[in-house]
Amino acid sequence: MNVVRWLVGLLFFACGAAIAAGTAAPPSGKLPDTAEPLQYALTFRVDPAADGFSATADIRIALKRPAERIWLHARELQVERVEWRTAAGRAQPARFLPAQDSGVAAVEFGETVPAQELQLHFVYRARYDSRLEGLYRTRRDGQPYVVTQMEPVSARRAFPGFDEPRFKTPFDLQLEIPAGLQAVANTAQSAEQPLAGGWRRLTFRTTPKLPTYLLAFAVGPWDLVEAAPITATAWRRQPLPLRAIAPRGQGPRLAEALAATPAIVTALEDYFGYAYAFGKLDLLAAPDFSAGAMENPGLVIFRESLLLLDANSPAQLRRASFEVNAHELAHQWFGDTVTMPWWDDLWLNEAFATWMERRITQTLRPAQRADLRSIVATQQAMAADSLASARRVRQPIRDNGDIEGAFDSLTYGKGAAVLGMFEAWLGEQPFRDGLRRYVREHAFASATSDDLIAALQSAGDKGASFGRAMRSFLDQPGVPLVHSELDCAGGKARLRLRQQRYFPLGGGTVAAQTWGIPFCVHRGKGATSTTQCQLLDRAEAEMVLDGGCPDWYLPNAQARGYYRVALAAADRAALTRVAASLNDREQLAFADAIKAGFERGEVDVAGVLEAIGQLAGARTREAAFALNAELVWIRTHLADEAARAAIGTYIERLYLPRLQTLGYLRRAGESEDAALLRADLVELLARKVDSPTVRAAVLAQGKAVLAGDGKGRLRFAAANYDLLGTVLAVTVQELGAPAVDALIAELAHTGDANLRLSMVMALGASADPAQAERVREFAIGDAVQVGETARVLGVQQYDSRNRAALWSWFQRRYAAVVAHTPVFVHGRLPELVAEGWCTREQARQVARFFARDAAQVEGSAQGLLRAEEAINLCAARREKHGATALQRWVALQRAAGPAG
Ligand SMILES: [Zn+2]
Repeated sequence: MNVVRWLVGLLFFACGAAIAAGTAAPPSGKLPDTAEPLQYALTFRVDPAADGFSATADIRIALKRPAERIWLHARELQVERVEWRTAAGRAQPARFLPAQDSGVAAVEFGETVPAQELQLHFVYRARYDSRLEGLYRTRRDGQPYVVTQMEPVSARRAFPGFDEPRFKTPFDLQLEIPAGLQAVANTAQSAEQPLAGGWRRLTFRTTPKLPTYLLAFAVGPWDLVEAAPITATAWRRQPLPLRAIAPRGQGPRLAEALAATPAIVTALEDYFGYAYAFGKLDLLAAPDFSAGAMENPGLVIFRESLLLLDANSPAQLRRASFEVNAHELAHQWFGDTVTMPWWDDLWLNEAFATWMERRITQTLRPAQRADLRSIVATQQAMAADSLASARRVRQPIRDNGDIEGAFDSLTYGKGAAVLGMFEAWLGEQPFRDGLRRYVREHAFASATSDDLIAALQSAGDKGASFGRAMRSFLDQPGVPLVHSELDCAGGKARLRLRQQRYFPLGGGTVAAQTWGIPFCVHRGKGATSTTQCQLLDRAEAEMVLDGGCPDWYLPNAQARGYYRVALAAADRAALTRVAASLNDREQLAFADAIKAGFERGEVDVAGVLEAIGQLAGARTREAAFALNAELVWIRTHLADEAARAAIGTYIERLYLPRLQTLGYLRRAGESEDAALLRADLVELLARKVDSPTVRAAVLAQGKAVLAGDGKGRLRFAAANYDLLGTVLAVTVQELGAPAVDALIAELAHTGDANLRLSMVMALGASADPAQAERVREFAIGDAVQVGETARVLGVQQYDSRNRAALWSWFQRRYAAVVAHTPVFVHGRLPELVAEGWCTREQARQVARFFARDAAQVEGSAQGLLRAEEAINLCAARREKHGATALQRWVALQRAAGPAG
């Protein structure tokens, strides 16, 4: 699943003791081992125009010991009848007893049944889910569609079963659907039967062994677009049928994603040395979707904006489309062919798909610089991992809240970074050989982290130290901080190194914790530079540098490491002097050293602003904007009016010339990079430092959009589509009510997910108190989709002018917010409303509310811990840095420049 990409925009388990059947208390965590599913046969009768569906489920199970009841999962299902029978016996009624809100239920046989194979038969119905879980309904252009999203624990909302990833079985699926509609599922359709009233019963081929969370189907008036099959390869003898599926009328916009897919599949097959295993491949664009996309084998479901592209699509979306496609297709091996047995090993799915998505993108589309995106994501993960409350990559999983919470930047970003670091240490070839062996040995079964580490270790030459080092990053929380100091006394160059857990000022206390770090330093002397590595697995170490005393060094060569660095002051100054000439990757590592120093109080405000000056002209956007968050923080929390103006002038002087060279409109034949750079420049200047020049330019585009097309609709084509979000947001802020009215009216007629998102987020940018309140209520109403609401609120919270009113509203309307957001967002709500808060009193307020009113919402306890800690860290940082250093910088600026 691709969740983290969507979270970025927002904020911006030991299993319970298994209770054997025979006692009445329901198990928490994993189900007991009394029974195990062998095969499912499911028939759903689905009319998207109705409020719910009816279904039957036949499950063949192995009862492994005598029992009078078994436990399984079913959630919010109205079970009308349950029967059981032995292989030879007659059907007998059983009792169905829902036991827990989490979806655990008992089936009681009415007698003690000996160990053997049994058949269970369920007849049930349920309402379609309203929060994008299980079998849910959504609308596009007035038409209803039914789509599934089972991961992680929502298959139980669609059918009774054993809803844990360790249970992998074949599925036989039938769908009964009304006339005129289309249905697709994991496997190809094998038969069709007419039913009364024009309905049809579609039968699909038996699936390979799958866990419940990967079952998928969709029903609606879809456009089905067939592409040429993907040609056979050395690994796959048969051509692979390929289709894409879109809401009615949108089929033509699937062409770009379809055209990109064969090369991705082939590259993955070549890497794994293993054929795509699911017989056919469909890509489906869902009108509303909780995550970015979902890797259901044979039927990958995407949020429609990632699949429906055309000439107007923003460059950012085109790139995301390719990357997310690569991510989901990588899952066809990692997750779908080999599955983790329990959610504590979720990283085996998500870290791998993330790491592989970047490897494939880097190979097939090098201009996209997935390597830099990967470093940026690593740094975001390190920020999350800097909290004392950070979880481990392999965290015990106790309940559904823990499961939902595991889909975070640590599982995705840290996991992927750890893989990249250990791939570099082991070598690309041995690493690939280890992965090939892992897939071959565990195909269509389950495998754990230990299985993976064993496969990698046996393919390389590092021995047991490889496993020890890798586990040190998976099994303990936190990110290492490596202190370094260069000592060139006596004609010998030495780095004195010390590692500890990284904490910002006011954060956790320093714990005696060590990692096995594949540590690499890049150092330069004159015109030459070289890299040197060693395993750093003790608290203190010394590294003797070959080649004499360097002019500068960077203790994270190529930014490949998952660790942060603190250079001695003189060493940092030497590095800052050469920052503008470092390579693209290492400029990002330099930026992170500045961030870490600022968070720890070792780099002051002037140091950050100087580093921004060094990076502003960088070749890549990633480096040029690497310190944006620090800039916004300084401006929000330390600056008065005069300082804001001085910062604005400084940033304009650094960045505005680059924007003026590019202009505000797309140019024929320009690169995607140019389009993306323009969008980032406009966002920084117009939204983050309120540049009057840039705001006026984008407002002109916004007014042209609002002037309309003469038929009562907005004229989006009057804006540069790459800038649309910023254009509409600035327009809402500058024009107020008329712009809010216009966007709300347009939303009622717009199905396109990307246009909708630009509009709803622009509404969130409204800072006028009355309009902001109106937007909040609008965001939890029927006109806004469930997948959109949190984005609106996140944008509101981002603007400090809205925070107090949003908080007061949020406490009153919390239940409505929960009802109008996907389940995986709920655990993040504390952080969403705490974003930007910076006093200890605010931390207490958030804690009081969530501890009392929200304790029952799954996952919010962990989210609260993170939110409270983030607020307190902000407060500590503000106390440390104060306003004086900034005022000194302002005075120096005035004295220095004609522009100051
Ligand atoms: Zn994923």
